[in-house]
Amino acid sequence: MEYSVFREDFLRIFEKNGLIAYADESAIRKFYDLTDLMLETNRVMNITALTTTDKIIPLHYADCVKAAEWIPQNATVADIGCGGGFPVLPLAIVRPDLRITGIDSTEKKIRYVQSTAEKLGLQVMAISGRAEELAKNPEHRDSYDCVISRAVARLNILNELCLPYVKVGGRLIALKGAAGEAEYLEAKNGIFKMGGELESLISYKLHMNKEEEQRYSVIIRKNSPTPKEYPRTFGNIKKKPL
Ligand code: SAH
Repeated sequence: MEYSVFREDFLRIFEKNGLIAYADESAIRKFYDLTDLMLETNRVMNITALTTTDKIIPLHYADCVKAAEWIPQNATVADIGCGGGFPVLPLAIVRPDLRITGIDSTEKKIRYVQSTAEKLGLQVMAISGRAEELAKNPEHRDSYDCVISRAVARLNILNELCLPYVKVGGRLIALKGAAGEAEYLEAKNGIFKMGGELESLISYKLHMNKEEEQRYSVIIRKNSPTPKEYPRTFGNIKKKPL
């Protein structure tokens, strides 16, 4: 696709979603190059099910950039279960002030994220490993201003995977679909056990070309360190969510 056509589509979707402030020329160029690199790699590795720009721009780019509004300036950020680079890569494009680490258990996805970030000139660190194991490492535990995650697990499982990484006073931003509120109610108890508390439940619409989809952002503030016994093994987290 030609750059000028991509740019027009990009601006239309970002405008519709109130994200025009993030759509400067150099960012749009990077999103254009990211699309190329992603679709190229997607032929040999499963990065995304979305293969056309009318889907990729709203459902990957606008959906992830939306979270930039809730991340403080110069924050350290961990994206847990970043997969093929979402939200880590879009956030790194629009927020060069952030120091973002992407974590995923699939090593080849992490290699792709790291090399793509380098090609785009983005400051990203990509680490392969299981979230519940890396969370025991003092380098990561209680150390991020902000942890973000999209499409990894239901919140009652996700909170145990993510909240150990958040520093006291920091936040977890869980990007959720239409079930976001119900997921929060189900996870409330576990969030409290992790040292967290709901700060806000933000309801908004993600605007596509014609239709729109319901989204929730569940923002959890961490008030006290996560007790040592968490996170448990993934088997136990899944079998007996708190
Ligand atoms: N966040 C991306 C990818 C979602 S797919 C997006 O929104 O597109 C879910 C990803 O979470 C997969 O890449 C999977 O490898 C990773 N994942 C699931 N459980 C994990 C765990 N316990 N630790 C690390 N990564 C995990």
